[in-house]
Amino acid sequence: MKINSVVIVGGTHGNESTGVFLYNKLKNQLTSFKGIKINYLLSNPKAAKECKRFIDHDLNRSFAHKDLNNIEKTGYEFNRAKAINSFIGPKGNPSTDFIIDMHTTTANMGVSVILVEQNPLNIRLAAYLSSKIKDLKIYSIGASAYMGDNDHSFLNSVTPHGFSLEVGPIANGIVRGDILQMTENTINHTLDFLQAHNNNTLGDLPETVEIFEHEKKISYPVDENKMITAYIHEEFEDKNYLPLKKGDPIFKTMNNEIIYFEEDKIYYPVFINEAAYYYKKTAFSLTTLNKIKVPQV
Ligand SMILES: [Zn+2]
Repeated sequence: MKINSVVIVGGTHGNESTGVFLYNKLKNQLTSFKGIKINYLLSNPKAAKECKRFIDHDLNRSFAHKDLNNIEKTGYEFNRAKAINSFIGPKGNPSTDFIIDMHTTTANMGVSVILVEQNPLNIRLAAYLSSKIKDLKIYSIGASAYMGDNDHSFLNSVTPHGFSLEVGPIANGIVRGDILQMTENTINHTLDFLQAHNNNTLGDLPETVEIFEHEKKISYPVDENKMITAYIHEEFEDKNYLPLKKGDPIFKTMNNEIIYFEEDKIYYPVFINEAAYYYKKTAFSLTTLNKIKVPQV
């Protein structure tokens, strides 16, 4: 299918200021690209104004069908999700063809393109971006691994095509030139890809693409009062997308006791020490690395 309309979303997490800044910058500068209509959405304006991740509930966990269709689910973000779904969706039969949802991370993850669906267009785009942007990573958070069913809750699950873009490391609430440029650069390459896709001028893509597949989250150790009792071991800090093996140190406790990774399988950790996940006690997530065949047309 042709991609005729793209929505670029900022501020889904109100304290990820890069997306808010780029929303304000780009909305008047880039309204179409070689035949593709580009719309903009400041998805969580109240949280952006207060520089908070969310007001009542994480907006980027509010787009499951079961919540969009549940009138009992209220509060600022659930209501906002329903309004956004009517504006750019509805999920299942959307008026928009493609979503780019801009996020940042406090973890040392560089540029990560997060897919919720591995359909042919998304995989071809993943291969294209991987070939154009050095060190860019493709991280797939499929519904079954993340939600336990097929009802994904991310904003960009409203359309089958698109991704959320995570760039970091950056503290919440601030803007930095390098992070802005990496975000804009990825958007520009994406628009180039979509235009070439529409016009059948893409040329050869790599035969395979490396995709990090979400497997599970790992929590911090806590005491009986649910207070965190350990921190990320200094040797493990920043080691996103690098293999984690049995015997590698992952935590150090208040008593200087080292906690080692105990699983036999090799995983690739992501979101190590992400600030936004402390309230959920999540220390990092684990992925497996797969080489996926790129569909050629
Ligand atoms: Zn975010």
